[in-house]
Amino acid sequence: MTPVAVYLDYNATAPVRPAVGEAVLRAMARPGNPSSVHGFGRAARSLVDESRETVAALLGGAPDGVIFTSGGTEANGLAVNGWGRRRLLVSAVEHPSVLKARPGEIIPVERSGVIDLAALDRLLQASDEPALVAVMLANNETGVIQPIAEVVRLAKAHGAIVHCDAVQAAGRIDVDLGALGVDSLAVSAHKLGGPAGAGALLLADPDARLAPLLLGGGQERFRRAGTENLPGIAGFAAAARAVGAETGEALRLAGLRDRLEQGACARAVRLVVLGGQAPRLSNTACLAVPGVAAQTLLMGLDLAGVAVSAGSACSSGKLAPSHVLLAMGEDALAGSAIRVSFGWASTERDVDCFLEAFGAVTRRLGVGNPESRVA
Ligand code: PLP
Repeated sequence: MTPVAVYLDYNATAPVRPAVGEAVLRAMARPGNPSSVHGFGRAARSLVDESRETVAALLGGAPDGVIFTSGGTEANGLAVNGWGRRRLLVSAVEHPSVLKARPGEIIPVERSGVIDLAALDRLLQASDEPALVAVMLANNETGVIQPIAEVVRLAKAHGAIVHCDAVQAAGRIDVDLGALGVDSLAVSAHKLGGPAGAGALLLADPDARLAPLLLGGGQERFRRAGTENLPGIAGFAAAARAVGAETGEALRLAGLRDRLEQGACARAVRLVVLGGQAPRLSNTACLAVPGVAAQTLLMGLDLAGVAVSAGSACSSGKLAPSHVLLAMGEDALAGSAIRVSFGWASTERDVDCFLEAFGAVTRRLGVGNPESRVA
């Protein structure tokens, strides 16, 4: 197997930060169940509580409103199923952990990838039954940022509860639970350079009643049973601290992303930058060369040691047309999109390596030529 030299798949998972590795190892090196009353247990409890405060501080929430989970998938499932609202409205571009949590009515998006607010309003007006509305903050494939304040305004006018999947947004744009006005927010440690298998659901009202998914223990104030994943939680907090200490990172990544997109446009025929017309995360580029399968590009880049994702990659590793791009009406490109995503360890050299490999692959495929658009 060719060793991967350039990692540009942060939206799948970010490399673990050095401080996170240290925090995880420190937590693993000590015994103690946070529920035990002896000194070891109390020390473990303190570590969980400090971590809760750190995560809450990064996201503008109250520590008591943080429910630690096994990741973003569980946090979304807990919100979608736990809020106790039968009627569910979900945006068409949600992550499968929201879409598959249970069936809901679909809120369409516009071609830009931004939610169709008029359609949301119509759906809200169509029934007197108060709904749960689930709209993500930033999309994992395109990076498109949703107008959550508007979603909240419409939803609250109809007595709805709002859940927001902020798994991709946290650490990449300012995320403030209070300012967003949503009722719950899902986050995941491994997108921030923390360990996989740790995440949280943050509640705006720390005392809100939520039906747990997991039963059989009083942990997380009876909202998530099971012994806490102490190393995961400590690593999550270390990642949150590192993110909180960064300055100018979004701007730095925007520079890398813009250079990569411009360079890619100059190297491929009719290259399309998907989501490029909407506000979007500065770390994400979703690119398609019409007529070229994502898998072909992906494999060519992989052989050159550059790791990116297909926009349509699903957790089984198989490629299917992207439901996000289909929802945006980009049917012709839904099987062609690749996603390049940056983060804390990304450098100019990564962009150079990508462009060199991308240029070689597109030339080999006979599509290496400038004539591009931003969609
Ligand atoms: N939500 C979004 C937008 C994601 O991108 C992901 C992971 O890719 C998840 C939820 C699931 O998070 P986790 O991998 O922590 O279960």
